[in-house]
Amino acid sequence: MVTIVVNRSSKETALSRAIIKKIVDFVCEQENREIPGKLSIAFVSLEEIRTLKKEFFHQNIETDVISFFYGTEEPDKVWGEIIVCPEKAREYAHTYGTRYENEQKLLLIHGLLHLLGYDDTDADKKQIMESRQNHLLEHFLIIEKRDHLVLLAQKAQQYAYAPYSLFPVGAALETCNGRVIQGGNIENASYGLSVCAERVVLFKAVSMGYATFTRLAIVSSSQDYCFPCGACRQVLYEFTPHLEILTARRGGDYQVYTLDELFPHPFQLKPEKGF
Ligand SMILES: [Zn+2]
Repeated sequence: MVTIVVNRSSKETALSRAIIKKIVDFVCEQENREIPGKLSIAFVSLEEIRTLKKEFFHQNIETDVISFFYGTEEPDKVWGEIIVCPEKAREYAHTYGTRYENEQKLLLIHGLLHLLGYDDTDADKKQIMESRQNHLLEHFLIIEKRDHLVLLAQKAQQYAYAPYSLFPVGAALETCNGRVIQGGNIENASYGLSVCAERVVLFKAVSMGYATFTRLAIVSSSQDYCFPCGACRQVLYEFTPHLEILTARRGGDYQVYTLDELFPHPFQLKPEKGF
């Protein structure tokens, strides 16, 4: 397992250690590589990165990220070093209307890809590297959204009313504009009137005016992954057939499906054929 050393000399807000570790692990996994020694990551000011660029590359220019590859396989020695300039990330976020934090993630991924052997010294290599880094960031951001939604579904278990089954389920439904609607299952003394958490969040959302959704996370306290029942699959299908479904279990680890994968043959009215 890689040891990550983080240094921050820039006054700008840099990525948290947890996010840095998550990005490094993710990129290594996607690239099917392991880092044998220490990985040093520093966040520095524009002035500092300019000085480094001048000293080591003989170019007196501002830059956004620099990588130094040492390649040692000794676990206690530095294998590679990535120097990120958050001020440049802030500049890109302004220019491209993106999130500052995500621009920093992209710089980190770029620096890491250099250490893993990618090169951008000519147009073809640059194109390959840029497309890889953009794909990795996109994928990483989706994983972050999924993780966050599962966390919100876990928290939503507190809204469950399950005195009969003692099986509280939490659900979190992400709407097409990124809002998250949370809810839990609601049981009744007349058992058959109970409503699952998935339908509770869907009905809440639809009654608020939402009609399409991106993903739904479902969590229970069981050791098994929590799947939506057949009735909920039918009801969800009405609104978003391709809905992403995250089935989590106790502890929060989860699987990813699409609704049409879990429910390939829904009941659908075809009025044109008449009754
Ligand atoms: Zn259900």
